[in-house]
Parts: sequence; structure tokens; C-alpha cells
Amino acid sequence: MTSSAAVLVLQDLDQLLALARDPEAVARMKRMGFRFDGADGLLAERARLERDVERRWWLAYERSHARYGRGLTAVQGKVCQGCFVTLPISAAPPAGEVALHQCQSCGRLLFWR
Ligand SMILES: [Zn+2]
Repeated sequence: MTSSAAVLVLQDLDQLLALARDPEAVARMKRMGFRFDGADGLLAERARLERDVERRWWLAYERSHARYGRGLTAVQGKVCQGCFVTLPISAAPPAGEVALHQCQSCGRLLFWR
């Protein structure tokens, strides 16, 4: 798995972990009929993902997640969707390439496609 793909999975996993740690959300999911086995499986998968993500991206993700509650932010029309700064054209990946970047304004890890 590429770092880009692994960071996307990591972002989803962290959203599920946030739900798993919220007793009201767990109770709501159980009322809706979802089976819930706790956060252990999610944490094990998160630890496994750490091996798939390049160290620099892992650290940037963790910093962004700790600071903003989300590790990854989208870029839309050259604008960081975290801080709404227009990014320099030189920051864009080559056409057709999916790449991770870090916003020079807010430090968020960016998913730019
Ligand atoms: Zn930003």
C-alpha cells in the first residue's frame, strides 16, 4: 500500500476510533443494530498501518491530528480546506498523480489529487 492510500485509511480509522471512544455514539450504534467489539481491533490495524506510511508523513499526520482533530485535509481548487489559504502552484503534484503534501500555512497534511 502506498503512503497516500495508507494515510487515507488511517484517517478513516481515526474517525472510527473517535466513535469507539464516545459512549453515546457506541450506544447509538448498538441501538441501530451494529455489533461493536471495542477499539482493540482498530488500534491493532492502526499499528499495522504505521508500517505502510513513510515516517515523515506519519509524523506530519500525527501532529496535524493532535492539533486539529483530523490528520488529513483535502485540497480543492488549490485551496487548503483546513486554513483556506491558496497554495502555490509549485506545490501541486504532476497532473494525474495523487500525492501527499504539507500545507506551508497551517501544517496540515494535504491530500491533493
Ligand atoms: Zn492549510
